[in-house]
Amino acid sequence: MVYAEIILPLPLQHTYTYAVPESMEQHIQSGCLVLVPFGKKKYTGVVSYIHQTMPQYDFEIKEILSIEEKVPVFRKQQLRFWEWIAQYYLCRLGEVYKAALPSGFKRESAQTYKPKTETYVRLQAQYLNTESLHQAFDLVKRSSKQENLLLVFIELSRIFVKGQEREVARKEVLDKSQNDTAVLNALVNKGILETYDKQISRLEIYNKPVVVPHALNVSQENAYRDILLNFREKDVCLLHGVTSSGKTEIYIHLIAETLKLGRQVLLLLPEIALTTQITGRLKHVFGDKLGIYHSRVSDHERVEIWNNLLGDDGYQVIIGVRSSVFLPFKDLGLVIVDEEHETSYKQKDPAPRYHARNAAIVLATMHGGKVLLGTATPSLESYYNAQTGKYGYVHLPVRFEDVDLPETIPVDIKELKRKKRMKSFLSPLLIEKMSVALDAGDQVILFQNRRGFAPLYVCRTCDWTPKCKNCDVSLTYHKSIHSLSCHYCGHTYRLPQQCPSCGDIHFSDKGFGTEKVEEEVKELFPGITTDRLDLDNTRSKTSFEQIISRFEKGKTQVLIGTQMVSKGLDFDRVSVVGILSADSMMNYPDFRAHERAYHLMAQVSGRAGRRKKQGLVVLQTSYPDSPLIQSVIRNDYEGMYRSQLEERQLFRYPPFYRIIEINIKHKQENIVKNLAEEYALVLRTLMGDRVLGPDKPAIGRMQALYIRKILLKIENAASLKAVHAALQDAHRKMEDILAFRSAVVQYDVDPL
Ligand code: ADP
Ligand code: ZN
Ligand code: ZN
Repeated sequence: MVYAEIILPLPLQHTYTYAVPESMEQHIQSGCLVLVPFGKKKYTGVVSYIHQTMPQYDFEIKEILSIEEKVPVFRKQQLRFWEWIAQYYLCRLGEVYKAALPSGFKRESAQTYKPKTETYVRLQAQYLNTESLHQAFDLVKRSSKQENLLLVFIELSRIFVKGQEREVARKEVLDKSQNDTAVLNALVNKGILETYDKQISRLEIYNKPVVVPHALNVSQENAYRDILLNFREKDVCLLHGVTSSGKTEIYIHLIAETLKLGRQVLLLLPEIALTTQITGRLKHVFGDKLGIYHSRVSDHERVEIWNNLLGDDGYQVIIGVRSSVFLPFKDLGLVIVDEEHETSYKQKDPAPRYHARNAAIVLATMHGGKVLLGTATPSLESYYNAQTGKYGYVHLPVRFEDVDLPETIPVDIKELKRKKRMKSFLSPLLIEKMSVALDAGDQVILFQNRRGFAPLYVCRTCDWTPKCKNCDVSLTYHKSIHSLSCHYCGHTYRLPQQCPSCGDIHFSDKGFGTEKVEEEVKELFPGITTDRLDLDNTRSKTSFEQIISRFEKGKTQVLIGTQMVSKGLDFDRVSVVGILSADSMMNYPDFRAHERAYHLMAQVSGRAGRRKKQGLVVLQTSYPDSPLIQSVIRNDYEGMYRSQLEERQLFRYPPFYRIIEINIKHKQENIVKNLAEEYALVLRTLMGDRVLGPDKPAIGRMQALYIRKILLKIENAASLKAVHAALQDAHRKMEDILAFRSAVVQYDVDPL
């Protein structure tokens, strides 16, 4: 008897054994997709491997129902990668499979992949020579329309030009001859033409000639050579290049070099940075060798990209988001992670909670390839790895064409408020600089890291504020839609008519979000065109690109946005950037808050004065003398790094310690409280004071579940294997408690 080990798209730790019916024995192999029964349902699973060892269960072994896809849908080394993800990120193999394989492959998903077909036209066989074609023309000579269509067809199909014959789509003949289907049908009925359906690709074909990359300037050339030198000794190299230094040009040269060796390249980008700006530049150089994989690619296209890569001469370069690390690469020679500091590379929910940058490093190593991490503001972890010699390091401190980095002027808003000179959210200095810029025909970007109108809506008498019924958070006021919304679960509420606490009917709003800033700018600068770039405004597929494109073309004068405005966009006419409140970013209760605030402010500032002239940044804060603000002003990454590193060491955080977060969630608060305490106790017996908590997190309830958090801080030198074994052991012990099984337990390794 032959058995197959199947990975199911379910949160299961291991593969499941199924019997292979005799009729399938010939066809089945590792990597095939199969339909199998599981519980009362059927699922599409993937064959991990085939064997002949009878499993030692006492329950019945079920049979595979059918083979869905005979050709393996993944490569052997991908399975190793999946296993690494499952092991390192403490999740189940089934969860990795579910995330990795496009859902178009799976039967249980709403829309299974269907090839796209198009109708084509050809001559019936008996007319395929000049002699008999004459007869065909005789048959149509009384209808000029039919005659014309036949002529057009012959011209398009070039059937008499040896070596240039081509297939002709029905649509093409009809368009060209300006006939309707009735005319074509007449020719089909006369037995002259026939139609047939053909499978076609959904993937874009780039028919433009490919251009050679720009020549690198001297500093770029030096950086490029340095990277190659580093790669002789190290697998990973950090390219620390200020905004607008031309990192993308260096990437292009490295990609071209790798392609010459016949190896593939993956360029990873954060979702939001994957705009037409960068894809356009790469398309110009790599044409049809380049495939693009982002979240707006449809399920069908995903399957086609996947199949393309499974083939022998598929894409050589993929530019893609986080999940493209799961694509079936054949021979990855190079992975480039652009904006490597971006936290969106980490998947939060659902499992696998992987970090695409770190996973890409493992993936590249499995292929014997190299990794380049590019950014203007390295993550503390990567910079530390470069400083300690684990990674290579290349610095590119000058902008392309040597334009100076923007000048940053701090504005003390606490002082201004004391003197009653802050009449709006925009300080007098910012208003003045904006006027000058706008008068000169320049553009302005205002950055406020809060969307909505006001983060708080409060009763004027008693300060009561409406909260989400599912989460432990106050609601944000969205003026344009006259409602309150929860930014954690998305629930929207009508405005309260009356305060339930004191009965007052008057409310006021506190704080300000992007919506309020836009309103204010419109009042201060009548007639100026503004736009907003935030989550509320960019939900539809095209709106993000449209807002960017309007701004690029100069149709918008002031762009107001959340962190979205900081993402690798390259604008020419921005001379002033305003950071409206640095304080809220710095005061966030998280050990990474300062690092993140630095990244954000440096990246946003980088949008100012990109081409010919130096830009200006007005930075509004209550703490202009704080070390963090000072390092932003002086563009002193190194200073920020050193002071943060000290704190990280002192308080046992990365890069000195590895963090694993365990979140336990339950509908009932007392249950989750007891479970978490019990779990922490069990963990302490195994790992001692590496275990912290349980704690009630800042938001103690989310989406109707109460949360408790346990934190593990593990010294870098500790064996991960031992940690994983201890966690599994503890988890198993906990499963003896009945309530534990109804709780949600999530592991987050290296949380961000
Ligand atoms: P970064 O990614 O480092 O912020 P970019 O690669 O976007 O910088 O480069 C900034 C601008 O300078 C872009 O408009 C780019 O086309 C231009 N540029 C950079 N290097 C070159 C070069 N070697 N030749 C021509 N243009 C360049
Ligand atoms: Zn909520
Ligand atoms: Zn009240």
